[in-house]
Amino acid sequence: MIAYENLLELNRPFTERFKQQFDDFLNSGWYILGESVKRFELQFAAWNNSAHCIGVANGLDALTMALKPYNFEPGSEVIVPSNTYIATILAILNNNLTPVLVEPDIRTYNIDPLLIEDAITPRTKAIMVVHLYGKCCAMDAIMRVKEKHNLLLIEDCAQAHGATFKGQKAGTFGEFGAFSFYPTKNLGALGDAGALTTNNPALETVVRQMRNYGSEKKYYNERIGINSRLDELQAAFLSTKLEALDAINNHKRQLAGLYLQHLNANFILPVVDDDYKDVYHIFNIRHPERDRLKVYLLEKGIGTEIHYPVPPHQQKALQPVLQNQSYPIAEEIHRTTLSLPCSYWHTPAQIKTVIDTLNRF
Ligand SMILES: *Cc1c(COP(=O)(O)O)cnc(C)c1O
Repeated sequence: MIAYENLLELNRPFTERFKQQFDDFLNSGWYILGESVKRFELQFAAWNNSAHCIGVANGLDALTMALKPYNFEPGSEVIVPSNTYIATILAILNNNLTPVLVEPDIRTYNIDPLLIEDAITPRTKAIMVVHLYGKCCAMDAIMRVKEKHNLLLIEDCAQAHGATFKGQKAGTFGEFGAFSFYPTKNLGALGDAGALTTNNPALETVVRQMRNYGSEKKYYNERIGINSRLDELQAAFLSTKLEALDAINNHKRQLAGLYLQHLNANFILPVVDDDYKDVYHIFNIRHPERDRLKVYLLEKGIGTEIHYPVPPHQQKALQPVLQNQSYPIAEEIHRTTLSLPCSYWHTPAQIKTVIDTLNRF
């Protein structure tokens, strides 16, 4: 059996170090916002070429907090891709703002910059891009629209740790980069964790206070905040994993390279472009008989996933907000996409087995 993912295998190279870190953590007697959070924030900011990093509890909170400092009037509009994980849209709704969905480019699966301008109204305040599957959005064109219309830009980097566009890292283009360190992400903790990156010191201060009850100095509250602190133990684990993140990304890129080179023409493969360095959080293919293909692979002992089976505008939870909207490109992607094994622990030999099996379908 070649599993799609196995979190124990993924973390096996780090387990001795994790045990040591747990002992150090326990013995420190300091369990919230301690040295490990501080250290990880500095390390991640440096690794990402960002001026600041603020650790938070998870990716959804990072996205939600990124929209908070501006106090937009309720009903202000935020542009967001129609094919994303639901978290991006929930972050907008959690701020009483209106998500305006824009279709992706069918080649890249990322928001189509040519369609963003059509969606802008006098109420538009921000663009929330998602660097889906580990590929950056077309940032040249998006930055032009941002500047022309004076909009905020927030980047959902939950799938794009280390992805670059023209050499620039995801999470450094907009006002904020929002990261998730959910265990399956390219940089994954052993529980929930997330972070915001920013180059703006004023925004950094707002979020640093907001995640901790609006306070930086104990019992002095500067603003209405929430409790969304990065956990001290997860921060310690993340520092260990961060040291390996370039190796993790390189390994996934190597496995993706095998798929790209050897899969036959029956499958629609991810596009490769010199301006983009992709990190393949997800290696997806598309096929008109996706569901039959998934069953076939499972019968041959190969696990796959679907990211995602139902697009946000068709989710039951979002019917009150997005009912009767239709996004045919997002729907086509959701109907045909299949995610293949492509994890740090998979070997090139395993991937070759997957390729041979696929090519016989
Ligand atoms: C994982 C993910 C999130 C949410 O992250 P959590 O840490 O689970 O809250 C947001 N957006 C995208 C695109 C994701 O893949």
